[in-house]
Amino acid sequence: MKLIVLFFSSVASYEIISKCIDVNHIAITFDDGIHANTEKILDILDYHDVSATFFVNGENIKDKKSEDVAKRIYNSNNIIATHTYSHPYLTTLNEFNLMREFYDNELVFRNLFGVRPVVSSYRL
Ligand SMILES: [Zn+2]
Repeated sequence: MKLIVLFFSSVASYEIISKCIDVNHIAITFDDGIHANTEKILDILDYHDVSATFFVNGENIKDKKSEDVAKRIYNSNNIIATHTYSHPYLTTLNEFNLMREFYDNELVFRNLFGVRPVVSSYRL
């Protein structure tokens, strides 16, 4: 599986990052959240004063508890990023459904945080 990370600077502009760009650095990422163990992960990161990026799927933010965890990520030193709404294999989707995956997840971000996501990842 190849993972692609997109950093959006505007709707029409993005940068694709597919390899490490800083020597001797690592990026910690967690995929497909919000999970039942996301709060524990946040506690561990806080304890060690380490930050990570959480790529979340909108369908996993389905109740007050998962909304609160998402808000905790957003209001912390971590990054919360979009990872499509329902995590399908994107190469199996037509253009409409592909855009729908990103749009629906963006709506979750807008409703929770009042902003659109600027970091995304997807699998090929
Ligand atoms: Zn994933």
